[in-house]
Amino acid sequence: MKRLLLLLLLLVSTAVAAPRVGTHAGYTRVVFDLPRTATASTRVASGRATVRLSVTLRAARGTLSAPGVRGYTVSGRTVTVTLAPGHGKAKANILPAKGKQAARLVIDVPTGTAAARVPATPVRSRVVTRPAGTNSPLRPRVVLDAGHGGIDPGMHSRWVTEADVTLDVARRVRRMLRGHGVDVVMSRNGNQHLSADKASDLDARSRLASNRTTSAFVSIHVNASANPGGQGIETYYFGQPLAGQGRSLAVRENGGGSLGQELTRRAANNAQNLLGDLLAQAKMSFSRQLAQKVQSRLITATGAVNRGVQTDAFYVIRNPTTAAILIEIGFGTSPVEGPRLAQAVYRERVAGAIARAILDFVHAE
Ligand SMILES: [Zn+2]
Repeated sequence: MKRLLLLLLLLVSTAVAAPRVGTHAGYTRVVFDLPRTATASTRVASGRATVRLSVTLRAARGTLSAPGVRGYTVSGRTVTVTLAPGHGKAKANILPAKGKQAARLVIDVPTGTAAARVPATPVRSRVVTRPAGTNSPLRPRVVLDAGHGGIDPGMHSRWVTEADVTLDVARRVRRMLRGHGVDVVMSRNGNQHLSADKASDLDARSRLASNRTTSAFVSIHVNASANPGGQGIETYYFGQPLAGQGRSLAVRENGGGSLGQELTRRAANNAQNLLGDLLAQAKMSFSRQLAQKVQSRLITATGAVNRGVQTDAFYVIRNPTTAAILIEIGFGTSPVEGPRLAQAVYRERVAGAIARAILDFVHAE
């Protein structure tokens, strides 16, 4: 039985098919399925991109007929893609397994105009080591999370329902980002939930950004207050709430009631654990930068009350693998902001500010 298991494991661990090749504007993408998520170091020498993996693949070789690439060889832990002359800037990323999709090694080879800017001098042996994939080399990727949806409409007032406003704003932001060459993934693109269970729903949203090629995760929400005087815009990144601050907002956005309290408690523990984690601290610093850009653009664009950049234990942005923020774009309960949020022209202005801030951020990286 043990031997059979070992054999099965071996079969699984060595499974690799011929790569998939995609031709895109400006680059050719070569994708190898991996038995599991691996780390990689990439060495781009004259005429070839060599990737050393932490997993062993079954030997294979073949020709590739696409711009910029000639062929590939897989041997043990090494994958080599032979490049056409002048294509020395190939980049490799590892994408972790997601759902039914296997982990992948993605090699992007610039072509056409992108390659034309690369000097034709032979590239001297150059070692590029990346932590299992950083940003996609050519197009930033952003996840937009329209808060709530489906069985969970979020806040509701005589003027607006949160789930409708967040989806409309997210779609507008998507349109603007795509217009500037950013890949956009939406957590939902209709009035739906990702799971009837709130914790699973928020997990599913947050997982969309666990792919390390994601530059930013932006969750959009509408605030509510029992006090009609409550108004303004605030942007959060993940962390401990300020001392003495009530947790009512995080509890509400984490599902409300005793469930919201439980998820907030879990997320707050997570925040405590991250304090000693240098990588998490670096991500928090990126998240703060993104939050500051978004908040500042939003206040300038709308003239709304500035409630500032804050930290709190929002479950959906607790995952520290990418810059992640949660924006409360206004109070749907406010007689001032509720009617504004109901207007398409105002939502367009809000979306424009968010999109410009995200563009600033992904291009400053
Ligand atoms: Zn919300």
